[in-house]
Order: sequence, then structure tokens, then C-alpha cells
Amino acid sequence: MASKLRGFASQTHLRKTIAFPRPSDLPSIVKRLSSTSSPPFEIFREPSPLRTHRHAALLSSRSVALVPTMGALHDGHLSLVRQAASENPEVIVSIYVNPTQFGVNEDLATYPKTWESDIAQLSALNEEMKQNGLQGKITAVFAPTTGIMYPTLPPSSEIPGVGSFVTITPLASLLEGASRPVFFRGVATVCMKLFNLVQPDRVYFGQKDVQQTVVIKRMVEDFHLPIDVRIGPTTREKDGLAMSSRNVYLGARRRKVGLVLSRALKAAEEQWVKGNFKRGDILWPANALADEWAREQDEIPAKERARFEVDYISLADPNSLEEIEEIDPARGAVLSGAIKMMPVEEGQPGEDCGLGGGTGPVRLIDNIILRPR
Ligand code: AMP
Repeated sequence: MASKLRGFASQTHLRKTIAFPRPSDLPSIVKRLSSTSSPPFEIFREPSPLRTHRHAALLSSRSVALVPTMGALHDGHLSLVRQAASENPEVIVSIYVNPTQFGVNEDLATYPKTWESDIAQLSALNEEMKQNGLQGKITAVFAPTTGIMYPTLPPSSEIPGVGSFVTITPLASLLEGASRPVFFRGVATVCMKLFNLVQPDRVYFGQKDVQQTVVIKRMVEDFHLPIDVRIGPTTREKDGLAMSSRNVYLGARRRKVGLVLSRALKAAEEQWVKGNFKRGDILWPANALADEWAREQDEIPAKERARFEVDYISLADPNSLEEIEEIDPARGAVLSGAIKMMPVEEGQPGEDCGLGGGTGPVRLIDNIILRPR
């Protein structure tokens, strides 16, 4: 650790040139750091040194935050780390693409992996947070192999798969779970493993994956885990698209039309803001907007369009995620949706069709919380 810190501190040019960086400065800091030597935190691949590291924090009464990620980091992940570092002296970021949350026909093999950029972004973030006087910093990245995470059996993505799993029903079979039956079993299982390995005081999850936050909170409550679950707001692109590691697959056409989801949810939210509580009154503008955008795409030439299918647009109870007919203003509700951007049709020479050339569909999810009044 000391040598890593020394390596980082010796970049004196950084100290001289970077004065109180803002989040918007991060890309240039990343560029400068990506060519430099060791990161300013430990990188653990095995449980044993991770546990020793965690134990040291316990002995010094320093609270430890965990931010679980699958890598391919973007500003949404970084905002969670900032929040974690503003509330805890030590932040551990895990980077692990968990196979059991991908269905057999999903994109596990092609999920983006950007290790060097991830480490450079986290290194730069530590520098930014230090300059901005945050109490905490990233002290470790935990990046295990699948052999470590699933030590006794190869992990299964089959629905009736064998293995040691955490299942949270019926939450895990609603909404996202209806289309992705093994997803939340995989998420709950890997989070339970990470929580046991890291033993964090607080864990940080993004509002972007609202059902995940509900599942994790339920798991923590039902299994009496001594962990505080903290939720960070969804980080969006300027036009409102929720940031996601999978957005790199969209390409220009689908990126533009993919906005339909956040626009539809906004249209629904406006009804709530205006004082409507009934399901039909709230959801109709969202469905109408999605239908209109879908019709527009049907009518333009294949070489220009980006077709999509709506999987669901939901108005649900914030704790059970069951669909509701009317919002109880004292409870509020969760507006959420998922769409499938279809593969790019008739890609043109030189066209940006996204990573992978636009050949596969891209699932987008988003949500808005209708807070209790
Ligand atoms: P992932 O790497 O996609 O598994 O995400 C890791 C964590 O980052 C999860 O808690 C996500 O909810 C969170 N996250 C992903 N995208 C965003 C976003 N746009 N805004 C806030 N949090 C996000």
C-alpha cells in the first residue's frame, strides 16, 4: 500500500496543475493518469488480503463503504463513489461481472470490460475527492475471479440451476424479473457474497436500477445483515438518457430514439405532479408517447430508423413493486419502464452503429420515484 501511495504522490505535476477539480474535469485527469504507474489504492483478487484490509479499518473504527459494480465505469458509478466517500473514510469498489445474473441467451460474453480505464477513472476520482476535501477515499478495489466467487460449483444461469443461491420472491419475478428470470437471483447471490467478504458498514446502489435497490433492501432486512443500504440518484446524460454501461452498444440512431423511455416516464410523472393519482390517468401519456415514437419509426426508411419494443411501463408500490390502480399519496409509487432497442437495420457505410456494430438488441431501463406527499 505504502509503495502504491508513494508512486501516486510522486506525480507532483498533478498537484501543481490540478486546483480543486470539479467532476467535469475528470476526463482530462483520467487521460493524464491512464499512462501513469500504480493506482492510489490496493487491488485485491482474493478474500484473505481483503479481509486483513477490512479488519484494519475495524480496529481503527473507520467505517467502510462498498460500491458494487460490474466495471465499464461511467459517471453514474462515480457519483455513487463520491457519495460513499462523503459518508465514510474508506470506500471499497468491487468490479466483477457476475455470470449468474445473466440469462443463458444474454450478453455475458460481450459485456463491456474496460479495466484500465476503470482503474484510471477511480485513481482520478480519488485525486478529485482529495482536492475537494471529502472525508473519504477509495482504499481498495476488489476484483475477484469467478473461481473465487463461486468456489464449490461452476455458476449456473439455468432457471432450475444447481448451486447456492439467494432468492427473494416474489420481488425477483416482477418487472425486470418477468423478462429476466435468473437476474435477481444472481444479483442477490453475488451481493450476499460481496457483503460477506467485505463486511461493509454501508453499501451504495444507484436509483437507476430501482428494483435492485428494493431487492437488496429486502435481503438486508430479511437476513438481518448489519448494513445500511444507501441509494444514490440516477445520473443522466444532458438530454435525460440514464447513463448505463450498455449505452455504448446503442450507436447514434438508437441513442436518439432510446430517449423515448425517459420522455415517456416524464410524461407520466407530470400527471402525478398535476395531482392525478389513478393508474390510467398517470400512465396514458407515457403509453401514448411511446406509441407515437414507435409509429414514427415504422414510417421512416429502414436505413434511418431505430425500432423498439416496450417491455413494460409500470406504476407500482414502492415496497412490494406490485402494480397499483391508484397511488396512496402517503406511500408514493415507482414509475418504471423497460424497452428493447432492436438491432440496427441497414447500417450505412461509416455509420456509428455502436459497439458490436448494432447487430444485437439493447435493453434500456429507467424509473422515476413519485415521492410520498
Ligand atoms: P452496474 O455496474 O451496472 O452493475 O452498476 C453498479 C451500480 O451503479 C449499481 O448500483 C447501479 O444501480 C449503479 N448505476 C448504474 N448506472 C447508474 C446511473 N446512471 N446513475 C446512478 N447509479 C447508476
